[in-house]
Amino acid sequence: MIAIALDGPAGAGKSTVCQAVAKQLGIIHVDTGALYRAVGVYALRRGVDTADWPGVIALLPDIHVSLRFTGEGQRIYLDGEDVSQAIRQPEASMAASNVSAIPQVRDFLLDLQRDLARRGSVIMDGRDIGTVVLPDADVKIFLTASPQVRAARRYNELKEKGHDVEYEAILAEVRERDYNDSHRAAAPLRKAPDAWVCDTTDMDLAESVRLIIEHIKERMGS
Ligand code: C5P
Repeated sequence: MIAIALDGPAGAGKSTVCQAVAKQLGIIHVDTGALYRAVGVYALRRGVDTADWPGVIALLPDIHVSLRFTGEGQRIYLDGEDVSQAIRQPEASMAASNVSAIPQVRDFLLDLQRDLARRGSVIMDGRDIGTVVLPDADVKIFLTASPQVRAARRYNELKEKGHDVEYEAILAEVRERDYNDSHRAAAPLRKAPDAWVCDTTDMDLAESVRLIIEHIKERMGS
């Protein structure tokens, strides 16, 4: 069994890289951002302001979130409803960033994440996987890129899906999420001391995947 922790800021390409790595190595990709997004979506649906900590905390006992893994990747469910699409709506990003600052929300999702890594080989992506969730992971990677490049990737992705978005607004949101994620008191985004940094600013996807697989194989001694 192997556990690979991959952390980094929004839009660094974590999900895409992880999906490719998981496929090549025949392991499961756990996208932990989806869990925070699901909690955010739940709060939005219940009309609770995601910046209202007591309001969000009061919802936690009612939230039933679960993951299922298919050949096409992870699906996420809220009370049995597949919300895999709903959590990708632009408003879910900031909602996730807000609820993820709440220590009780992080605790609420911690066991679920650790449990998945106990059940089989995983590559898990998030913000605090190498530092908090799986501090003993076999391989730790910190994937990053400049804010401009990350915003451009997000912009293209959303445009392709038909969303009406503006680059400047996306860049502002990327910066705001970076700030929120790295300045919160609870499990802030930071590189684990033993993580390998992969900066994809000047790389395309295929090259990042190739480099990361090479690094993993080297670390695993194969
Ligand atoms: O990775 P993704 O953009 O889907 O994550 C949404 C939000 O969830 C992030 O902005 C971050 O605030 C939060 N998150 C987190 N810890 C994780 C994964 C995501 O705080 N392990």
